[in-house]
Amino acid sequence: MLTIQASRSILYNIEPIGIETGLVESLVSYLIRLSYEHNINVGHLVNKIVVPELHKDYLERSSKYGGNSFYEGAKTINGYTDNSTELVRVLEELTTRIDLTSLTLFKLKDLVPLRNLFKETFSWCPECIKNWNDTNKSIYYPLIWYLKPIQTCFEHKCFLIDKCPTCYKKTGILRRKMIPGHCPFCFNLLIQDEVIKEINNQEWQWHTFVYLNIECLIGIKSSKLFAKEQISKQLKFIKHQYFSNNIIDFSEYLCIPKSTLRAWIKSENMPPLEELLKICFKLDITILEFLSKSLQNVTISHLVEKQNTKKELVIRRKLDLVSIENRMKEILKYDPPISMAATARMVDRDKRILYCNFPEYCKQISKRYRDYIDLKSKQRIEELKKEIQVAFYSLVNEGIYPSSRKIQIKTKRSLLRERALQEFWKELLVKNNLYNG
Ligand SMILES: [Zn+2]
Ligand SMILES: [Zn+2]
Repeated sequence: MLTIQASRSILYNIEPIGIETGLVESLVSYLIRLSYEHNINVGHLVNKIVVPELHKDYLERSSKYGGNSFYEGAKTINGYTDNSTELVRVLEELTTRIDLTSLTLFKLKDLVPLRNLFKETFSWCPECIKNWNDTNKSIYYPLIWYLKPIQTCFEHKCFLIDKCPTCYKKTGILRRKMIPGHCPFCFNLLIQDEVIKEINNQEWQWHTFVYLNIECLIGIKSSKLFAKEQISKQLKFIKHQYFSNNIIDFSEYLCIPKSTLRAWIKSENMPPLEELLKICFKLDITILEFLSKSLQNVTISHLVEKQNTKKELVIRRKLDLVSIENRMKEILKYDPPISMAATARMVDRDKRILYCNFPEYCKQISKRYRDYIDLKSKQRIEELKKEIQVAFYSLVNEGIYPSSRKIQIKTKRSLLRERALQEFWKELLVKNNLYNG
């Protein structure tokens, strides 16, 4: 048990999960698990034990008066700014561990700018959580889930979700009542019966690339191998080698404004992680190759063919518009339809450029896709309703009250966690004069 009055409250020395792998636990997750292991809520651990050790007056005042300062800053706890390094220091003192820096992006601080890096709300893979729960493993939240470019789970080939499947609420990065694997509002497990796996191929290619590259980056033992100037050096080299030093051609190829690109080349600032990934994706090299190798020794084959005279490039670009239009017309006939994001990748142009040149096609493509997704989810609900109905009446016929638990046993899954289905079940109860809630 904790003795808060003691001069120093020592916390359990619990082992962080996945150290030195791409799926290493995040510092936020560690804090949540620590609270859970001590059987106290996160709010208590933060206010009574962590904040006093941080020696930050404004946080202490804030926590005393029930304020939110600590939680509002939580987005960057997994990063490398002061709030993160300070929390590492305090938690290491309290747990006597020495490896908690690994739960943050500290080692990437020279390579990855914080701008646009972290998600505003928590997102997770429901399948990972389900797996850990089913196999009695510790449920934890990997660092990788908190990064904006990460939208899928590579292992389960599904999208991460950011709304509780039971109460539909989104949750902040850290909340006072977080328990590993559970919604901080309704406390249900953050799992979903039907996981959306409909990711089309082109889209999946991109998400896989992003996931594997970031996983690699997070898993590296030390970033000392990479020089900070490497990014600008490589960009300069490509511009020189493949674009006859022409920044306009290079910026159009990358779909990045030339002033932005110029600033990166001059090392005035650094590309956000997602932009760096887009560049590597276009160049068809991994981020580690980009950061560590000399590109002189790497052939970027599809760039070689771009080395043409300017005149040819101009002609080709004009033709491109026609061929892009044709491809977009084709895409409008796709069944099932695809999203605008996937379209942009298929025609190898930035979405903004497509919207500029072909607004009508873009609107139609995106509407078709939205309608399709809507229809799919309606169909899914209808099918599940039928399943509930069958279970409901078969219970009634057996003389058993069709409670949510009995329905769950009968259908072998917990369908009634979804609001629409729960409503449907209640309607059935009312209709059959069985409702007593
Ligand atoms: Zn997963
Ligand atoms: Zn919930």
